[in-house]
Amino acid sequence: MSEPTILIVEDERDINYILRTNFKKEGYNVLSATTAEAGLKLARQHRPDICILDIMLPNMDGLEMMKVLRQESQTPVLFLTAKKDEIDRILGLKMGADDYITKPFSIRELNYRVKAILNRTAFQARTGESGSLRMGELEVDLEKHDVRVKGKSVTLAPREFQLLKLLIEAEGKVLSREQLAVCIWGDDESIDIDIRTVDQHIARLRRKLGAERHRVATVNNFGYQVRSDDRDGPAKTKRALAKTGAGR
Ligand code: CA
Repeated sequence: MSEPTILIVEDERDINYILRTNFKKEGYNVLSATTAEAGLKLARQHRPDICILDIMLPNMDGLEMMKVLRQESQTPVLFLTAKKDEIDRILGLKMGADDYITKPFSIRELNYRVKAILNRTAFQARTGESGSLRMGELEVDLEKHDVRVKGKSVTLAPREFQLLKLLIEAEGKVLSREQLAVCIWGDDESIDIDIRTVDQHIARLRRKLGAERHRVATVNNFGYQVRSDDRDGPAKTKRALAKTGAGR
């Protein structure tokens, strides 16, 4: 499979450079522009898998660029914003902005967010619009935030649901505790999010899943993984399950 292509549109040269360097190092094909006009041109030529869009740009701003882009493609967008009122504008537009991150941001958080968006997009492409799936007796409707075990509705707290959603969208990939924490609580140094907080939420999530608790597997004391198939799950998951005793 070829590497995902990422388009960066950012007029601040230092930030543009940092982003370019980072995403190249992370293994992406990187395209970059310093104006929305040049960004649109690159988007049309190369059809990137994701766009990182700064909002404050000369001439056409990031939000205007998004409007044009949406008429032409469904490429997911992660906005870079510097101000609170910009976040309100992004949310107010309701045009399918996939996410935003506020400046100053941490590179680690940005990388995790980008991966989460790409997982989600790939997942949606495979499952279609419905966003619902069934694993054994567990039914999850990601759109309606509806979780059922053996037909009975299970009430999850918002963060428990988010954790389950991230793991489902990762489709069997192992997500580290750190990655889950950063995606859900952000990378704000002032909030002391211990990775044990993730464990506690996962423990609660598992309890609520009852008979289907084994779907959320611990992997080598590193992270978590959702197992969709009992029979064809990766061998290493089975080993990890045996080791941790999860699912019993
Ligand atoms: Ca800017």
